[in-house]
Amino acid sequence: MARPISSGLAAGLDPRGVLGLYVHVPFCSAICNYCNFNRGLFDAGLKNRYVAALLSEIRGAADRAPADTIFFGGGTPSLLEPSEVAAVLAACRQSFAVPVDAEVTLEANPETVTPERLAGFRAAGVNRLSFGVQSFRDVELARLSRLHSASRAAEAFRMARTEGFDNISLDLMMWLPQQTVSEWLESVEALIALHPDHASMYLLEIYPNAPLRDAMARGRWSVAPDDDAAEMYLSGLDRMDKAGYVQYEISNVTLPGRRARHNLKYWLDGEWLGFGCGAHSTRRGVRWKNLSATEDYIAATASGQPVATEVRRLSPQERLEDALFTGLRLSEGVDVRAINERYAVDVWGVYGAELQTFVDQGVLFYDGRSLRLSRAGMLLSHEIMTVFIR
Ligand code: SF4
Repeated sequence: MARPISSGLAAGLDPRGVLGLYVHVPFCSAICNYCNFNRGLFDAGLKNRYVAALLSEIRGAADRAPADTIFFGGGTPSLLEPSEVAAVLAACRQSFAVPVDAEVTLEANPETVTPERLAGFRAAGVNRLSFGVQSFRDVELARLSRLHSASRAAEAFRMARTEGFDNISLDLMMWLPQQTVSEWLESVEALIALHPDHASMYLLEIYPNAPLRDAMARGRWSVAPDDDAAEMYLSGLDRMDKAGYVQYEISNVTLPGRRARHNLKYWLDGEWLGFGCGAHSTRRGVRWKNLSATEDYIAATASGQPVATEVRRLSPQERLEDALFTGLRLSEGVDVRAINERYAVDVWGVYGAELQTFVDQGVLFYDGRSLRLSRAGMLLSHEIMTVFIR
């Protein structure tokens, strides 16, 4: 059962000191045409060696520090066997002080789950699922080269409920090729009809070399104008408000008590360890990234070589900027007094003159204690956050 985290303001910077553990699973059944994640095609032999490497890396990092969230991200973690998930979780529990009510999330693609596999994941200790749905319209899913249909996504969700999962998040993407505002809202309504505990709603970003760009050129598809993208964002959130969800982060809404505890560590200036190829870690002011290539990662682990690369102690200014950037993503904003204390700085004294412009426009609020974006301000978050870069 998820432990609701109280308001970040009330709790200060709650998650600091209690680690989140991230486990990367870089395998997918097919590669989606817009994907820019660290992933490759599923290969059973490679996966077996990879899981052995993961177990070795986790055990090698053992220091019994408290860790109250574990997140399997990818790639497609639901391609792992339940027994493999159980083995990774056992290694985490042996290596860190993981409480019985830790949040354990598995990202899942709808086409990969069956009642048996879901029951297996649950028995292994997974208590939260995050399904990558992206759209409830088949034509949009086909344009994105996703393997599932809208009905398969709904079926996967219902299966998960039947198997006892009471904490399920669904991901949707907006601003898809050829998508209109009303078509976007069809997906939002379909999501609401399923009544998930949590939802993430992202704008699709098409990176420069994405195969989707070629598909768009061939199909003569385009994306809606920027104003429509803003309307998709605002109207989608408005629908979620009316359905009883609470927005707590730029792209995330939740039913009461179901905020993503793992992701809150990223947004509340917390600490986390990432295991697996390409995984990032931030702990005690040091940041590093594991070797990205799956084979390199396995080879290094097998020969006892370090997998961490780009190990860097963050400067006080970088840590301050990160805390402000990520904290401002939260609807409740940044607890300026806590940041002042932690980083021995006067945030408003340093940045206030530039921030005042946004306060005057009504897209940013400052009450002497917290600094927070309005919903319209969230659409301008990149522009507002550049104020913090020195
Ligand atoms: S399933 Fe997810 S990680 Fe895999 S290729 Fe598609 S978008 Fe990328």
